Amino acid sequence: MQRVLVVEDSKVVQQVLRHLAAHYLDVDVDFAWSLKEGISLIAKHEYTLALVDLTLPDAMNGEVAKYTLSKNIPTVVLTSKIDEYIRQQMLELGVVDYVVKDNRDSYHYAIKLVAQLLRNHGCKALVADDSVLSRTLMKQMLEKQLFEVSDAHDGEQALQMLKDDPEIKLLLTDYAMPTMDGFELVKAVRNFRGRDDLAIIGLSGAGKHGLSARFIKYGANDFLTKPFMNEEFHCRVMQTMEQLALIADIKESAYRDHLTGLYNRRYFYQYAEKVLKHVEQDNVLALLDIDFFKNINDQFGHEAGDQALKQVTSFLKTKFDDFTIARIGGEEFAVVLDNMGLEKAELRLNTFREQLAEHAFSINGEPYSLTMSIGITPFSKVSLTGAMRLADKALYQAKQQQRNCVVSLQSN
Ligand code: GH3
Ligand code: MG
Ligand code: MG
Repeated sequence: MQRVLVVEDSKVVQQVLRHLAAHYLDVDVDFAWSLKEGISLIAKHEYTLALVDLTLPDAMNGEVAKYTLSKNIPTVVLTSKIDEYIRQQMLELGVVDYVVKDNRDSYHYAIKLVAQLLRNHGCKALVADDSVLSRTLMKQMLEKQLFEVSDAHDGEQALQMLKDDPEIKLLLTDYAMPTMDGFELVKAVRNFRGRDDLAIIGLSGAGKHGLSARFIKYGANDFLTKPFMNEEFHCRVMQTMEQLALIADIKESAYRDHLTGLYNRRYFYQYAEKVLKHVEQDNVLALLDIDFFKNINDQFGHEAGDQALKQVTSFLKTKFDDFTIARIGGEEFAVVLDNMGLEKAELRLNTFREQLAEHAFSINGEPYSLTMSIGITPFSKVSLTGAMRLADKALYQAKQQQRNCVVSLQSN
């Protein structure tokens, strides 16, 4: 689990940072007022990252940053003023970046920077450049941004590495390289990795007009002209990775149901279609529908009905956490039990059904219970629509019989 340490002596600033951290950071964040308090926290916890004020009453000359860096904690510095001397001093110290506290947006920037660094942490990056010096330099800079970096000496080697490792999320490529240059590399990579899946930043020497724009045309997300300043590099990489994260967020929310956070119908169809392609293994499709759900709405109100749907969702998640669950209708859910035979799936769903029926839910402090009817069907070597139709038919029969039961149907 990642953990962040913030050291800041101003009450107001700390309050703003607390507020922003709660909003943007999904990790544990500890706040300290002084160097002394920071040291005692560092003795207790392991920190992924520190955001520290440059001057504190008990550490007037950047001693906090020096301390966190001496403990190998990547550190971002907050400073109220910046001049060339301080800037140089901090970069020499080895801080990841510094943020000047001159308006409210600075704190926003600082926390978003921390969020991006946490996302970079453990994320794989690749540097392709034929110059050892340039490669080493970029590797170091990326490592400072917490990436896990590998490098390639030409386009061909880089292409192979990208083919072998789909987890690489960032590629920095030089233009002029032997055997395969930067453009050819970008073109080839884009055949199998999209813009929103792998970020590419192209590099080219100054004075070569039009190279940078061509990088973008071939599919790079951004470009840098050499020689570049440390901070320019830092900002470009950060911004590109932030865009990638933003797109991932949008995609994710398009696949999610708003009320329960489960996958929605659209995602489910896409996913199920994909599973179907692996026809070698046994899968089971289950449709689960809450019995007499309308009564809950009628008795407690629609709002309470929503609460009930959320509670049922949590229950489902605890019982089927290794499988894909989707909300495909109002009070209807689908689960794909992949790599499982029909008999085993039926047993498992029956156990679930019994546990659900016995579970005491509560709405506004009032206890209630509910049951589900379940239709299942094997789901390999058949079309998705065929499997859905059969599972639906099985569910209908379960409703006709007595509800609160599992009905299984197979095609002949
Ligand atoms: P059955 O056992 O036959 O499935 O009975 P049922 O009452 O569960 O089924 P019916 O299809 O008659 O009613 C489903 C109800 O679910 C009606 C609808 O208002 C309610 N519902 C659907 N989506 C939501 C939702 O998002 N929130 C709430 N509160 N209710 C919902
Ligand atoms: Mg070169
Ligand atoms: Mg129902």
